[in-house]
Amino acid sequence: MRTKYAAGNWKMNLTFEEGQILFSEVTNMVKDEVVNPNVKVVMGVPAPYLSSFSKLINTDKVSIAAQNCHPEAKGAFTGEMSVGMLASAGVDHIIIGHSERREYFNESDEFIASKVNAILAGGLTPIFCCGETLEQREAGIHFDFVKGQLTNGLFQLSAEELQKVVIAYEPIWAIGTGVTASSDQAQEMHKELRAHLASKYGADVAANISILYGGSVKPGNAGELFAQPDIDGGLVGGASLDSRGFTDIAKAFPA
Ligand code: PEP
Repeated sequence: MRTKYAAGNWKMNLTFEEGQILFSEVTNMVKDEVVNPNVKVVMGVPAPYLSSFSKLINTDKVSIAAQNCHPEAKGAFTGEMSVGMLASAGVDHIIIGHSERREYFNESDEFIASKVNAILAGGLTPIFCCGETLEQREAGIHFDFVKGQLTNGLFQLSAEELQKVVIAYEPIWAIGTGVTASSDQAQEMHKELRAHLASKYGADVAANISILYGGSVKPGNAGELFAQPDIDGGLVGGASLDSRGFTDIAKAFPA
């Protein structure tokens, strides 16, 4: 049984005090209300809050994620954070390859692959984001494009390493737009990606990889998305900023 995820990405939102309230509320609600033992709730909070908020976790159902890292262990990289630094602040997951970082910070597949390697070497879990633009989908090249992102970002790994990676498929046209991919569109892509993993690593390995969907996931659509056979949860932006709604998303997995 693959681990199911409700992973939040707060992006660059909330003050320390606002974040502290939200983080505590989610942790307490998840502790009391999420009964499926196979569900993991991850909150990707702004870097300055990681060390403090990691101490608020009161259940092993909740983990804390960084939204970025640098592949080097240390050195003259002003403003950057290494995997070891994040681990020492209580972090166990790191979101990488988000389309906002690929687009606004010019992160290449190669650079993201080096982050994957560093995160795994540090014993943490990468949440590896991928996804196509609307233009790519309309041109009919979306499957090949996203499979290429997996090839370039993950196929340097051994089978053992790959099984420690969480993948998040996030069509760019659905992020922050209120437009969600239909459950059929999302399932179709997830199935393709799992088959692509199987083509290199074999079906048994591919069957163990959690593939999340991201793009305007909300309490109202999470249940239908998470009921799809190849969708193992969500990477949630806007809706992760509301404790009640985000906890309800974590409760939306079929029993
Ligand atoms: C995201 O940024 O990863 C995301 C999916 O955002 P939203 O849920 O707001 O579309």
